[in-house]
Amino acid sequence: MSNLRIPGPTPCPPEVLKAMGWQMINHRGPQFAQYLKDVTSGLKTIFQTENDVLVLSASGTGGLEAAIVNTLSPGDKVLSVSIGVFGDRFATIARTYGAEVIPIKFEWGKAAEVAPIEDALKADPDIKAVLVTHNETSTGVTNDLEPIARVVKGAGKLLLVDAISSMGSINLPVDNWGLDVTVTGSQKGWMVPPGLTMLSVSPEAWKANREAKMPRFYFDFEKAKKYAEKGQTPWTPTVSVVYGLSVALKGLLEEGLENIFARHHKLAEMTRENVKSMGLKLFADEKYASDTVTSVAATNGLDGKLLTKIMREEYDIVLGGGQMSLEGKIFRIGHLGWVEEEDIRAVFIALKEALPKAGFKGA
Ligand SMILES: *Cc1c(COP(=O)(O)O)cnc(C)c1O
Repeated sequence: MSNLRIPGPTPCPPEVLKAMGWQMINHRGPQFAQYLKDVTSGLKTIFQTENDVLVLSASGTGGLEAAIVNTLSPGDKVLSVSIGVFGDRFATIARTYGAEVIPIKFEWGKAAEVAPIEDALKADPDIKAVLVTHNETSTGVTNDLEPIARVVKGAGKLLLVDAISSMGSINLPVDNWGLDVTVTGSQKGWMVPPGLTMLSVSPEAWKANREAKMPRFYFDFEKAKKYAEKGQTPWTPTVSVVYGLSVALKGLLEEGLENIFARHHKLAEMTRENVKSMGLKLFADEKYASDTVTSVAATNGLDGKLLTKIMREEYDIVLGGGQMSLEGKIFRIGHLGWVEEEDIRAVFIALKEALPKAGFKGA
């Protein structure tokens, strides 16, 4: 088995894989209703919310699209806070559906700052919603969302959050921070194959939903809620992924939130310390470095693309590359979900040999 160290899909524990092979059931029968009920209740605990939680069959991007089209109308002004590839994608979805997007971009590798967001909201009182990424997987940065949320909610705006690679791994208390729609995806820290996006919808988001005019059919919050009330989904769901999630959630709830977050933090710290001790440089501002993925700058002659190739071909370790303008300039180590210290140690034992082969001249 490869040491799959990308920030999703992540390896799945054997009990989850086993569940993925269970026989099909009627997705409109009582058994499925029980699965959906259990999964939804477990998700609410981990989202730390009393809001509705909807389970839609799609990858995470489907959840982002759902968040946009279910709360906004064409022509609505939306402030997009972006610190990387996924922040830009969220904005593109909004623009695609006719929102007027006002972008605030921060340098890749850095976290978003509160003051420019506050200024932008003051400068244009017509802004209806703010889009923000909690954990920017492309740069390995976790935004300090609490003060951002305070400003956004203080201004009475809708707050839509991409938490795809953080929810279930990094503390993100939806109700405490007042997040209106918070989106995650099954293949990240949840240790489940791709196929489900799970999102929370606040009362304010429901209010926006009643007025939202963007076109939608497959991803419709109202239909999803109506069906969820009878233990169903509007369309045939990825039943096997629901099985997998039900098993993974059981384990996560037994472990407890504090332990889940501490486990990710510990592995991330271990990864960052190892990176530095090898003379490599962290790409992310260390103050905001992510607990689910570490980005490493390809410095001192290192060819990032060659490195990921050597690691894959010679050591069976799969690292993440850089995306878009970061291609070849960074590589990324995923440490979310089902991962042990041993897996991280193996990465650095291999890197010690592979780095010089990929041009790295040392510190
Ligand atoms: C993985 C990821 C996405 C994209 O999710 P898909 O499941 O590939 O559609 C979006 N945002 C963030 C922050 C991610 O980590």
